[in-house]
Amino acid sequence: MKYINPARFEELNASGQLPSPKGVALALLDLVRQDDFGIADVTHIVQSDPALAGRLLRLANAAGRGVRRPVVALPEAVMVIGLPMTCKIALGLSVLAESQQGECKAFDYQRFWSLSLATAITCQWLGFRSQMAGDETFTCGLLGQVGRLALASIFPDRYGEVLKLSAGKSEADLLRLEQENFATDHRELTAAILSNWGVPQVLVEAVYYHENPAEASFQEGSRLYLLSHSQHFAAYLAQVCLADEAERQPMLSNLYVLGARLGLDADAVGALSDQVVAEWQDWGAILDVPTQVLPPFAEMADALPQVPPVSDTSVGAKGQECSFPLRILVVDDSLSIRNLLAKMLSAAGHAVATAANGKDALGRVVDFNPQLIITDWVMPEMDGLALCKAVRLKKSACMPYLIMLTVLEDEARLIEAFEAGADDYVVKPMSERALMARLRAGQRVIQLQEEILREREELRRSAAELAVTNRRLLDAAMTDSLTLLPNRRYGMERFEQAWAATSRSKQTLSCILLDLDHFKKINDTYGHATGDKVLQLFSRLLEKAMRQEDVACRLGGEEFMVICQNTDLPGAIQTAERIRKQVEAEVFSDGELSLRVTVSAGVATRDSGMPDSATLLKMADQALYAAKQAGRNRVVVFRRREPA
Ligand code: GH3
Ligand code: MG
Ligand code: MG
Repeated sequence: MKYINPARFEELNASGQLPSPKGVALALLDLVRQDDFGIADVTHIVQSDPALAGRLLRLANAAGRGVRRPVVALPEAVMVIGLPMTCKIALGLSVLAESQQGECKAFDYQRFWSLSLATAITCQWLGFRSQMAGDETFTCGLLGQVGRLALASIFPDRYGEVLKLSAGKSEADLLRLEQENFATDHRELTAAILSNWGVPQVLVEAVYYHENPAEASFQEGSRLYLLSHSQHFAAYLAQVCLADEAERQPMLSNLYVLGARLGLDADAVGALSDQVVAEWQDWGAILDVPTQVLPPFAEMADALPQVPPVSDTSVGAKGQECSFPLRILVVDDSLSIRNLLAKMLSAAGHAVATAANGKDALGRVVDFNPQLIITDWVMPEMDGLALCKAVRLKKSACMPYLIMLTVLEDEARLIEAFEAGADDYVVKPMSERALMARLRAGQRVIQLQEEILREREELRRSAAELAVTNRRLLDAAMTDSLTLLPNRRYGMERFEQAWAATSRSKQTLSCILLDLDHFKKINDTYGHATGDKVLQLFSRLLEKAMRQEDVACRLGGEEFMVICQNTDLPGAIQTAERIRKQVEAEVFSDGELSLRVTVSAGVATRDSGMPDSATLLKMADQALYAAKQAGRNRVVVFRRREPA
């Protein structure tokens, strides 16, 4: 999985345009960050949004969950769904509610949510079915493409262009265009946003790969395999749901193939799909997302032509057990030799495919992916030597083992074969014993190679995990643990960045320093714990009072800074005054205690003569000092003395 460059994500995040939870969802996210909270707290917050409460009740009663009697009370619904999950669902629904429309004209918001909703419902069903956390998969299904939405929100015009350019092209083309234009793509961005919202890493990885699970080569049957293929299936079913009748029919056979990968037979796929469509229509009406009516899937499937049996490879059905069965490709222009070898090898337990010349063989290398190739030398169209060279030219992780059949054991010819890339040879007419002995040698090499590959894969995976851990550490190092605001280190770096950006763009930059008044007295009177609580409450209030594009941080103690980018002096004064007033009006409560707090603020704005960011900070600090001197609970602006 490719991770977005953290600095790039920070930049995009700073635009304030990333899809983000609002209102109740935000309050819930804040709540779960605290250590002790209970059902009562969650219920209390959810109650303030009747629409969300209704949706949670519906989810708690979702058929796949297997609750015996209907859940009618909100606390019970929250309990059935679970606290953390309630918050994640609220998050998904909140993002949906916030971005049902937008500015990117080429982006079909309604279709986007309609697809996402169908995907989410399917994911939830599959999640319940395989006991893989249905609610969690619901949210992943709903937000599995949120990176696309993000690009449309941040870059409405340019993303519109990109969408037009990539129309009718492959997903890989779209990803490439996105990278070229935005230094990231929707997959990376989706993963980063979901991680940022606390979705567990394994789900994020599954979401990342769901558009093309084959790329990840997860081990068949593993959790990641199931999750990514489930979501792939879900997204495909969503496309089927939204397709018109003419497009739909040809998509159906593929739907059944994808279902088979999850162990669903045709009947199960049909039943699941009917169920999904019904729920999709219900949810669509509730959430104001468009849906459409479809005939029952069994009826549509009846109209499909019969599918021929898939494989022409003779897997050793009657053959003996084989400790390490291989996929073997036999290449010979003589039909009788092909048949003879195929019979012998499948009797030994291997899966065999055949080709009549080098050219055909190259096609089979792609679709059959053989681990071992036995090839004749002289053949029409393309001979064995050319085949060896062509196979070796392909850059693939796992190289097939190549055995050449040759009539003459002539040294010069053998050297030629080895140089073309053959691993071994067998002289014709061949004895079964000699061939089997050569095969066993090949088996050992292949086994070893695959072990090395697996180890390499594990290394790659643990490196990826390490990257995630490092990112978490980095986040922790940048966050103040008491108030959860960015800390001084982050604030200073960000201030420096803002200064540099302003230098380039000639935009304005202002800075507000805030210091709580007589805070020591609060500690002395009520104790340090109450002091801490006040700092936390103040921080939440600060976040609400400032504008979304401002950045606040705790510099230390009871001192805070707000960076107001692209803001002139009157704008910054307005923000500072709003913060001051709201603090003054707020009753800070800690258990039984209710107390009032005031704050002083110093404001300064960059002007043309200012040499560096430290000077701007110093001026704000001087203004703050003046505010304290003048009696506290006020906003003071730094003004240079006019030259006489
Ligand atoms: P002024 O109005 O002049 O700013 O007065 P003040 O009392 O707010 O300022 P002073 O700098 O004298 O005191 C700040 C106090 O903040 C002293 C310190 O014990 C307290 N403090 C610093 N960090 C923390 C903290 O993390 N938690 C708590 N509870 N108190 C803290
Ligand atoms: Mg103080
Ligand atoms: Mg102080």
